[in-house]
Amino acid sequence: MSETGSALRRLHQILTAMHRIRSEIDRGPRLVRVKKKLATEKAAQIDELKGKLTDARKFADQKQLQLRSNEDKILALKGKLNEASSNREFDAVKSQMEADQMANSVLEDEILETLERVDLLGESISRVEGEKQEAEEEVKKFEAEVKAKQGDLESELAQLALELTEAEKIIPDKLRVDYRRLIETHGATSLAPVENKACTTCSTMVSPQIAIDLNVGKFVFCRSCGRLLYNPES
Ligand SMILES: [Zn+2]
Repeated sequence: MSETGSALRRLHQILTAMHRIRSEIDRGPRLVRVKKKLATEKAAQIDELKGKLTDARKFADQKQLQLRSNEDKILALKGKLNEASSNREFDAVKSQMEADQMANSVLEDEILETLERVDLLGESISRVEGEKQEAEEEVKKFEAEVKAKQGDLESELAQLALELTEAEKIIPDKLRVDYRRLIETHGATSLAPVENKACTTCSTMVSPQIAIDLNVGKFVFCRSCGRLLYNPES
């Protein structure tokens, strides 16, 4: 067991922890945006329903006007009916009256249906308004939680950054450039433990000589994927 192995294992742990914390820091604001979007969608839904409600009310008003004007017409026709001078005229006025009465009964049905629709739309609006309020409260609560958590994560990250600087001292000067390049490309997965005589990143078997090199604390890069290898049992 070499000191190099355990130092590299520690280095790998720090890199992994930093990666996890960075992802978590990024995740918070993203989740807040998703929740905000839901509240915005509810607001748009309310606008749409309100538009439909206005249209339905307008439609009902128009039909009420038509109904009233027809009623006036029927009243006038009643007068004419009494003054009819012939059977023919009487029948003509009567059939006109019947047609207007029929039209009014259709109008009454339409008005009733529309008023029912107005009620339903009103109910939908209050329901979605409740959902919108809930969503907005959820956003506020979640934002506060994220904000509080971000602070903890940032200080954890700063602490790990200090530990990283310390842990990276194990990398020999002549390998620093290679190491930096590896970190830039692969980040937290730049290091790979060897398990069952194979690199855990690419599964390539390590030669017996490399296994010995690792055990004595030499720095070895995987010949297949280039990761910096270490013996996890160290
Ligand atoms: Zn490999």
